[in-house]
Amino acid sequence: MKLINRHFSHSRKCLRGFTLIELLVVIAIIAVLAAMLLPALSAAKERAKRSQDISNLKQWAIASLNYANDFTDTLPSGKNATYEDTDFTHFNGNTWTNLLLYGITVDVSYCECFSSQPSVLAMVGSNVWAGEGNIFMGWIYWGGRAPQPFGSSHPVYIPPIKTTDRLKSTSDTLITCMCYDATGDPWASWMPHVRYGLMTYPAGTKPWSYPDGLAVGLVDGSASWARWNGLTPMKQNDTIYYMPR
Ligand SMILES: [Zn+2]
Repeated sequence: MKLINRHFSHSRKCLRGFTLIELLVVIAIIAVLAAMLLPALSAAKERAKRSQDISNLKQWAIASLNYANDFTDTLPSGKNATYEDTDFTHFNGNTWTNLLLYGITVDVSYCECFSSQPSVLAMVGSNVWAGEGNIFMGWIYWGGRAPQPFGSSHPVYIPPIKTTDRLKSTSDTLITCMCYDATGDPWASWMPHVRYGLMTYPAGTKPWSYPDGLAVGLVDGSASWARWNGLTPMKQNDTIYYMPR
């Protein structure tokens, strides 16, 4: 009887399912594997965003060159509707209307880091403040503007006005991802490509993290990724913009 019992109990042991401990060990192993994999997925997503930005800025650079070919080499103007150079995230509706004729669309008019912010995306290509005649774009556009001071004791950036300005190494940046430090201004600072996304900082708050870099379109029609430590801060009033110089 004892023998039979032992045999029976052995069979039961072979047929049983997982114990709780075994199940927990399996779950823990899966959790560790997921934790290892998720950052790799985020990194892959960020690489895709950067590629898309570079591709879109190349389209902007080429559209601007094609526009200039038809207008005595003069690049589209980044001045606003009242011919001021102060706002780098908006420009006049005439420039926008013209660029639409040269292949620019809303889809290529914002840094991919905005894709997590539908309310921002909805503004791209539109007249956000009705009556001003200015269009919001998701890039910082430099073409056709007046010389910009780098702050009181720094050199001046002379934005490209004609396509021939690409020959001057100091006037070759046409357009970049929208990134600015507005610590001294009454609006938020925007830092794209920070830890795989867009970070905004409330007015008056110093950004505690800066981007890995920015996508940049140049006047020669090329676009590439510029690493953060290769960028130069450019001070315009109280706002600081970053350029590959
Ligand atoms: Zn970007």
